[in-house]
Amino acid sequence: MAEEYLNYRNKRLFIENVDFEKLVNKFGTPLYVYSFSELTKNIKAYQEAFSSCKTLFCYACKANSNFELLRIIGRSGFGADIVSGGELFVSLKAGISPKKIVYSGVGKRGDEILYALNSDILMFNVESEEELLEINRIAISLNKKARISFRINPDVDPETHHYIATGLALSKFGIDIKEAEKLYQKAARLKGIEVVGCQMHIGSQLTKLSPIIEAAHKLVGLVKKLNKKGIKISLLDLGGGLGITYKNEKVPALSMLAKRILPLIEELGVTLILEPGRSIVGNTGVLLTKVLYLKNKRNKNFVIIDAGMNDLIRPSLYDAYHEIIPCVNKSNKMIKADIVGPVCESGDFLAKERAMPFVNNNSYLCVRSAGAYGFSMASNYNFRLKPAEVLVKGDKYYLIRDRENLSDLLVNQKTAVGV
Ligand SMILES: *Cc1c(COP(=O)(O)O)cnc(C)c1O
Repeated sequence: MAEEYLNYRNKRLFIENVDFEKLVNKFGTPLYVYSFSELTKNIKAYQEAFSSCKTLFCYACKANSNFELLRIIGRSGFGADIVSGGELFVSLKAGISPKKIVYSGVGKRGDEILYALNSDILMFNVESEEELLEINRIAISLNKKARISFRINPDVDPETHHYIATGLALSKFGIDIKEAEKLYQKAARLKGIEVVGCQMHIGSQLTKLSPIIEAAHKLVGLVKKLNKKGIKISLLDLGGGLGITYKNEKVPALSMLAKRILPLIEELGVTLILEPGRSIVGNTGVLLTKVLYLKNKRNKNFVIIDAGMNDLIRPSLYDAYHEIIPCVNKSNKMIKADIVGPVCESGDFLAKERAMPFVNNNSYLCVRSAGAYGFSMASNYNFRLKPAEVLVKGDKYYLIRDRENLSDLLVNQKTAVGV
């Protein structure tokens, strides 16, 4: 298996050195399980590939905002790329220095901008002129200067799913590269603004280098023009987006990315910022789930499991593919089945028409590559309880988030007194 931490011993699945059965017996299912060794391997891969230049890696928290994972990622030297006041709060609590936090997103609210300014974060990645003016206004009211970059929309096709492509001209993200110079000049004149950076993020699950390089080229051209005009760019943020292997995608090595990027930016003297999310956590996690029932209708098989779209929405949302393997791999008989959850929606499936070994009810399945955009997109739809999360390190395991319980469903609910 691509993930070194997953292996069968006597046909039973081990996660690092822990038997899956220990985990499901102790913590129940559905259960997210993360590998410490894989996580640290992915972090180091970035640090090593780019070791020859000044860098800041800002982990995109939205990929997985589990508090303990954030603490581990922060301890390794990474900063954070946040997209909300909530992510700022949790990142700071996890010990990440505000000096390593960049703030992205098209819809930053005034109170969130105020919070970020008061926290003295490194940089706002600004996505519109109106947002620029709002940040300027709030910064002046605090007698501060907000460090900003613009998120530039370089108009390249990242060749990924259209829901996760963000760098095309007509996407809601970023500012048109044609407008950029004018906006930078305007920003440079504002009292509450200090221009420091230039940013892009063209999409997610990118499996080709050429769109990234093409976009980076455009940004470098812009930075040179700005520097000539006296607008000094010291932070060049090329975003995140590098893909992972879900099925058989070939993902370019980080060393290749570094090899193509570093010569481009060398003469600029900038600090390179990257905002990886999926490529840090995607393959570090799996979702363990129990088979509840088997059902056959007109020769179509359904494997009904206890994890649903509320636990892992990627297949429903993006038609995403997740490898699903049995936790006990005994059967030689293959079947084709839809693997579906208990949620009352036809769109609630984890796999369609999937060839898989025959499994009995009460057996367990492992949904691979579920570490990114898994738990962080989980909801309580159908009033299902959000799953627990466990971290495995060697032969040890740690509960890093409790499974929700029924009374959690009543938190924040209010009575309309007098109705
Ligand atoms: C989501 C996001 C990222 C991370 O993307 P991945 O594909 O998970 O690496 C980085 N930067 C911004 C602005 C994002 O919105």
